[in-house]
Amino acid sequence: MLVVKFGGTSVGAAAQIDQAARIVYGMRERKPIVVVSAMGGVTDLLLQAGEAAVTGQTRLREDKLWEIRSRHDQAINGLLKDRNTAVAVQDTERIIWEEIQKVYTGVSLLREMSPRSRDLISSFGERLIVPIFARYLSTLGQPAEPIDAREFIVTGEESEFLLVDFDETRKRCQKLTSMAESGITPIVTGFICSTPAGATTTLGRGGSDYSASIIGSCIKAEEIQIWTDVNGVMTADPRIVPDARVLDRVSYKEAAEMSYFGAKVLHPQTIMPAVDENIPILIKNTFAPDVPGTLISVETPALQYSVKTVTSITGMTLVSVEGRGMIGVPGVAGRVFTTTARQRISVMMFSQGSSEQHISLVVNRRDGEQTIKALKREFEPEMERRRIDRVASISEIAIIALVGEGIKGVPGVAARAFGVLGTAGINIMMIAQGSSELNLSIVVREKDAPRAVQLIHEAFELAR
Ligand code: ADP
Ligand code: ASP
Ligand code: MG
Repeated sequence: MLVVKFGGTSVGAAAQIDQAARIVYGMRERKPIVVVSAMGGVTDLLLQAGEAAVTGQTRLREDKLWEIRSRHDQAINGLLKDRNTAVAVQDTERIIWEEIQKVYTGVSLLREMSPRSRDLISSFGERLIVPIFARYLSTLGQPAEPIDAREFIVTGEESEFLLVDFDETRKRCQKLTSMAESGITPIVTGFICSTPAGATTTLGRGGSDYSASIIGSCIKAEEIQIWTDVNGVMTADPRIVPDARVLDRVSYKEAAEMSYFGAKVLHPQTIMPAVDENIPILIKNTFAPDVPGTLISVETPALQYSVKTVTSITGMTLVSVEGRGMIGVPGVAGRVFTTTARQRISVMMFSQGSSEQHISLVVNRRDGEQTIKALKREFEPEMERRRIDRVASISEIAIIALVGEGIKGVPGVAARAFGVLGTAGINIMMIAQGSSELNLSIVVREKDAPRAVQLIHEAFELAR
């Protein structure tokens, strides 16, 4: 069995949906389970309408919702030429729109959007697209049914620290398998899920990739295919490095590492469920289906290059705890991490100088303030006694990550990277290398990030 996911650009309008549905039609013998994202940009529009509702901008709210509605109407009219079929889909959409209106009226009245309301609001994009996709695939000659993933992807209660309940999800996924086996293609909403009590949750932005791998692992699929708008996983983000090259093979470890550090092509959590069941992930281009794409699996063939990809992640803050009094005092690092853990702040990267005069951590910018406050509180006694001089922060920083299994054991990787950045006058603020030696991470100012990525891409001849 096969799980096949189409991203937002692959279902952005009638012509793209047509292309995606024909790809599914072509593989109908393999009995695929299809996962679909919202039309490109729709999740953003839903959230913008939510913000407008919170700030009482009713007109703006209605304009955004109108834009979403007309994009779906256009797709229906463009794809479903038979009037009765079009009307049937419109009826299904109308029921969803009634709920949308109620939810937005609620947000407008309350003037607040809790994480839970945000999840519910952002769920509508996926819910609106699946009836259209399913009906269109049926008209091509392959029977299909829209499926709401909230019926079977089950998560914990807290939306920000979402944990998927794989045991429960696996049980409920049986329904998908029997449907596909009976010859009806399930067209499943990506991104959305629900708590055991039935509240809507989401897997985070870009989460439809993760939906596909959750389903893939639960039904033990033979392959997970991610169809997008590029030819595969590339040596760098093509918007930053125009001559970035497509890689034929990437290992699970490399893919996990690069998506964690900003390669948007895959949601960072996608790899884990696939690894557990050893399911290969194939990245393909919806608009160039004959291009082989990238195969992500347990191993990659012998590597010629030490570094395979260079990624960047922006929107980070660097926090440091500094002071000469820290030298030789045990437990400082432990207290730093206990403090961030207690505040439920995730630390992207950290380092401690060998002189022990500082400990630096990189956190998401939205957690920056809270991190500083909590650390100042924790080290108040030491700061009074001047053992710790200060807890400081620099925002607007980025992490540049060089990733590749080949980095292990190859001397000079760091030297070459630091060399080109130094020559270009780009200041390196912090470095870290994971013990797996798969990744070398470098912190620079956010404004220097694109240039740093380009220079490193060039220095390691990744475009070759
Ligand atoms: P989808 O809507 O199909 O999920 P996304 O926009 O989420 O697509 O992800 C695909 C995009 O990721 C590409 O268009 C590309 O611009 C960007 N991207 C960033 N880094 C990489 C990379 N290393 N390899 C391939 N694509 C990348
Ligand atoms: N529609 C969701 C988003 O825009 C999920 C996805 O595209 O994967 O984040
Ligand atoms: Mg995506």
